[in-house]
Amino acid sequence: MQEVTKLQDMRAWSRAERARGRRIGFVPTMGFLHEGHLQLVDRARQRADRVVLSIFVNPLQFGPQEDLAKYPRDLARDRRLAAERGVDCLFVPELEAMYPAEPLVRVAPGPMADPLEGAARPGHFGGVLTVVAKLFHIVEPDMAVFGRKDFQQAVLVRRMAADLDFGLEIDVAPTVRELDGLALSSRNSYLTADERRSALALSRALRAVEQAWRGGEAGPAALQRRGLEILKAPGVTPAYLELVDDELHSVARADARTVVVVAARVGATRLIDNVVLGEGVASDISVRA
Ligand code: AMP
Repeated sequence: MQEVTKLQDMRAWSRAERARGRRIGFVPTMGFLHEGHLQLVDRARQRADRVVLSIFVNPLQFGPQEDLAKYPRDLARDRRLAAERGVDCLFVPELEAMYPAEPLVRVAPGPMADPLEGAARPGHFGGVLTVVAKLFHIVEPDMAVFGRKDFQQAVLVRRMAADLDFGLEIDVAPTVRELDGLALSSRNSYLTADERRSALALSRALRAVEQAWRGGEAGPAALQRRGLEILKAPGVTPAYLELVDDELHSVARADARTVVVVAARVGATRLIDNVVLGEGVASDISVRA
């Protein structure tokens, strides 16, 4: 596995590979890799000839009260996991190279960044899309893979690529969960054993909504009430549970394409999860973590 830190070296690597006719797949991450990230690598492998994985904790997407300084990092472990999984090029740009000066020109994510995570985290998606646009320009991939775990982010990245003519394919991969349903997240490392148990309320709430829908309930208010009942477990502070379409609008009736999105605080940790009703939590990938 090649490891690259300089932006010009990354671009040169990609251009050399493309000149040899190779299709490049890209997996952007903030590191502290887990099986969710590594499944994105597998998908990129299946859809491209070369896989680039980037690790960059992007300060632009953290609010002033958020966990930037204590965001978990372990580059030595990430390097080993990426190499074992067959990543061809690990791109670890330095902060000063990505932001030599305060970036004045940024991507405006538009109205799909207003609800849900965007409402709770002002400026977050502008920061995400700005760094993703930069990474796309540096890596110049043919395709990039994002996880549906961060549903609003995936929707926004796909829309940015279309609206701004990035000319690359965006692939969205199913959520990877632990066997008991908890969606893998680097932030799970903040949870105590008790909090880890409380955190199961998110996937349980999604399952409860899914079951009610399969049982014939299609009214979003009733489905939301059912989900919130389960989400309000000891140690869990619900933020939202909503039923939305693929442009993040609230739905008038739930159908197979409706996405149930949920966010809650468990202890000091904010967690998110979602399910596409027609696919169900069980169709996501389960792994022993
Ligand atoms: P992050 O390092 O948290 O910025 O995530 C990097 C990429 O991995 C994003 O596209 C995430 O959506 C994706 N990802 C994170 N957790 C999971 C998961 N449990 N299942 C699938 N994809 C995930």
